[in-house]
Amino acid sequence: MARKLIAGNWKMNLLRDEGTALARDLALRLARTVDPAFDLLICPPATIIAPIAAAVAGSGLLVGGQDCHSAPSGAHTGDIAARMLADLGCSHVIVGHSERRQDHGEIDLMVAEKARAAQAEGMVAIICIGETEAERNAGRAPQICSRQIAGSLPRGATAENTVIAYEPIWAIGTGRTPTAAEVADTHAHIRAMLAVHVPAEAAGIRILYGGSVKPSNAAELLSLANVDGALVGGASLKADDFWAIAQAI
Ligand code: 13P
Repeated sequence: MARKLIAGNWKMNLLRDEGTALARDLALRLARTVDPAFDLLICPPATIIAPIAAAVAGSGLLVGGQDCHSAPSGAHTGDIAARMLADLGCSHVIVGHSERRQDHGEIDLMVAEKARAAQAEGMVAIICIGETEAERNAGRAPQICSRQIAGSLPRGATAENTVIAYEPIWAIGTGRTPTAAEVADTHAHIRAMLAVHVPAEAAGIRILYGGSVKPSNAAELLSLANVDGALVGGASLKADDFWAIAQAI
């Protein structure tokens, strides 16, 4: 397994100057770290990826997008092609985040197509899955994750071009997380599902946990079997908190 991946999803936050300052701060910390135990990724809003990528070039800090269109180009007003993100220096693209599934009606098939588009441009697709609170309470979390993996994982997914992010929807931005045992169970289930769909790659595909990750719970979450990193929302907007999460490994 590769190093753990600590990814920050800035969502629809930060303007150019504040985003660039945050990215520079993280890049500096990373550049001063000898042999870090993690890969560090930030996913800023598309509007400020270009100045940020330029500001942190060469530091080792990775930059990614939060979404992409599945088509390589064309008449899709307001959308952004994977190629455009790659052109700015992005190494990763988040696809199928629950906020996109909810706000934009994205379904598994669309997520798989977006992931494939990102991979075709040489980027890593971070494919998000996760159940609602009602589904968790009904004991259906495993089935939901199975269905989303089956539908959202593109053909040709490999350990190099694919990351899965398990983000229970009810844990996002709420301060609540599943118990350590629940996270471990779900991640083991996801690993088993990957073994069904991509047997030769399953062991190497990184599975991130996301949903109210913060400095105080990062060490426990990141120590669990099959938790290969974190996808961090709110706490990724503060350099000290995001860095503390990476240091918790
Ligand atoms: P929070 O860390 O703010 O709960 O957000 C998680 C998330 O949605 C990351 O993609």
